[in-house]
Amino acid sequence: MPAQLIDGKRLAQATREAIAKDVTELYSQSGIRPGLAVFLVGDNPASAVYVRNKKKACDIAGFYVEDHALPATISQPDLLALIEKANADPRIHGILVQLPLPPHIDSGLVLRAVSPMKDADGFHPYNIGRLVEGDPVFTPCTPKGVVRMIESTGIPIEGKRAVVIGRSHIVGKPVAMLLIHRHATVTVCHSRTKDLPAVCREADILVAAIGRAQFVKADMVKEGATVVDVGINRLDDGRLVGDVDFESVRERAGWISPVPGGVGPMTIAMLLANTLEAAQRAATEGRV
Ligand code: NAD
Repeated sequence: MPAQLIDGKRLAQATREAIAKDVTELYSQSGIRPGLAVFLVGDNPASAVYVRNKKKACDIAGFYVEDHALPATISQPDLLALIEKANADPRIHGILVQLPLPPHIDSGLVLRAVSPMKDADGFHPYNIGRLVEGDPVFTPCTPKGVVRMIESTGIPIEGKRAVVIGRSHIVGKPVAMLLIHRHATVTVCHSRTKDLPAVCREADILVAAIGRAQFVKADMVKEGATVVDVGINRLDDGRLVGDVDFESVRERAGWISPVPGGVGPMTIAMLLANTLEAAQRAATEGRV
């Protein structure tokens, strides 16, 4: 029997509707509207699409959005000065710096310049530390979405064998942390892992975050496993596919997320969730 679909698009829609209700409630109770400052540097077409989709979702949910579309030639000090302004602006609760940044800008320095209290993407070392402690303030959006998708299946994570392919700061490592804190036994694989298919076949939960089109084949998947595909890859014929060979793996898995319509929409919904949560914290602390 083919796997059941983890419908990220539907889950994201429901999440965004709930967020929009919370935004109205927060505003009527405290006069605070969640605010997101978005920094896009240069004209990378993929980044422009991501940013457009994120801003649109914020608008629909009733957020205040401040848009900084900056030339690729902007100097590092000028970018840092704009981020400093957003850090100090009480209308802003979340700051998003769309990656990648141009090569003359030190991305690490810029991400560390974002106030940890407004770090909507959860990439600041303070927030990474809180995540490792198991007491996160801002959880990175894609990993947060991945875990929500796994939880949406209703299958308990506790005690399961989980394998995460990919060890990036943005996806692989935080996904592993979140699963550890939910009491899974987690293995993180990467490009130097020996006999990757054998390790993957042990997984009750398999998360693929590699960036290689249709890399995970059916013979790498345990019968009945829950498979979440983070990858976004463009084929020569223009089609968008994930890191999982969807058609073959769906015949073996118990649950599977598609690309498109899986992790992508959830990442956007989690950006909204993070910004809303920051605004709610500001309201509780009496900051307007
Ligand atoms: P990355 O390039 O930073 O990391 C890729 C990881 O995959 C590395 O840790 C590397 O060791 C591992 N890897 C590469 N080749 C491998 C191999 N042959 N065997 C085993 N491991 C291998 O990428 P990333 O930023 O983590 O993103 C991964 C994928 O997820 C990309 O396709 C990216 O576009 C996608 N992504 C999607 C979203 C979303 O919202 N849906 C968000 C972030 C990233």
